Amino acid sequence: MRYVYLDKDNLGKFFDLLKEDYKIVGPVKKENKFVFAEVEDVSEMSLEYIPTILPPKKYFFPQKEKLGDFNMGDTKMSQTSIEMQPTVIFGAHTCDIDGIECSDAVFHKDPADPYYSKRSKMITVIGYECMFQCDDCATCVTMDTHNPKAGYDIMITDAKDKYILHVNSPKGNEIIQKAGELLENDSEEKIKSYLVKLREEKMKKFKVSLIANYNELKDIFDGSYNSKIWEDVGKRCVSCGNCTAVCPTCYCFDIYDDVKLDISGGDRTRIWDSCQLKPFAEVAGGENFREERSSRQRHRLFRKFDYSVNKYNKFFCTGCGRCTRTCMAGISLIDTVNDLTKEKNNV
Ligand code: SF4
Ligand code: SF4
Repeated sequence: MRYVYLDKDNLGKFFDLLKEDYKIVGPVKKENKFVFAEVEDVSEMSLEYIPTILPPKKYFFPQKEKLGDFNMGDTKMSQTSIEMQPTVIFGAHTCDIDGIECSDAVFHKDPADPYYSKRSKMITVIGYECMFQCDDCATCVTMDTHNPKAGYDIMITDAKDKYILHVNSPKGNEIIQKAGELLENDSEEKIKSYLVKLREEKMKKFKVSLIANYNELKDIFDGSYNSKIWEDVGKRCVSCGNCTAVCPTCYCFDIYDDVKLDISGGDRTRIWDSCQLKPFAEVAGGENFREERSSRQRHRLFRKFDYSVNKYNKFFCTGCGRCTRTCMAGISLIDTVNDLTKEKNNV
């Protein structure tokens, strides 16, 4: 919609202006890792960070939430009302913004999830473009999530002596109107061509670690259902479920009821679940559709590179690298996808 410059010395003032209207969550260093947490001052954030332990999905879709209360005999549950302060997610990387677009596709699809939708309305996303690759686990270049495209209200790009702010929504525009005197204008054409130059330069600092390119990935998965590679991965997996908890595009949940002792009613809660846990695909009678770890691993990656394309026309892997980074068994998404690629190409 619009491009403006922000002097680097004015970032603190810009943050303070936001604070007048929003709760702000941003990337904060925690020991040798990073987390998204509430911040009061711009200095608390580390804008150059490797992906946080959990992605920003926790603000849209909390790990555990009460859905409502019910009375026995009533056919309807009274829904928990979502009380959420207007919140800015500050400094989200482009891969995580792609993750938000994936969960939007799921939760906003008719019928929209009312809890997710309500939170979504209260959240403003101010992204921060990565100008170098965070580490060797990331595959954002192949997944085409390393440059900003959509899904944010404002994107901040480090343009050496200044920041470039791309304003991409009416919500973003409101913020920019308020920040008026902190900003500098220039012709849109000039700023856009500067961005092209900056992005050409940044590509020298990114590496491509997947053998396959974006357009080949779906085909590779289509032909891999019976591959022995799933057995090899299954032998190493310990079924902890960490890879799905940290994944920005995993959205499976379980629902359980807590019933009062006098069985007059109760409340209903949903909680993140994981397809990597054995009971996930268990059904009445004790049958389990994915009893083997190998089939659960295959399912996880098919949900990223195959089924999601059929259903949402989108890969559900943002290339953030969290699953590889977190796996205590050393299972790497890069190795698995590269092994499948080599198998397909008979290398
Ligand atoms: S994090 Fe690793 S060990 Fe745990 S379920 Fe995922 S792949 Fe298996
Ligand atoms: S599958 Fe792994 S790399 Fe892809 S989005 Fe999920 S956590 Fe990130």
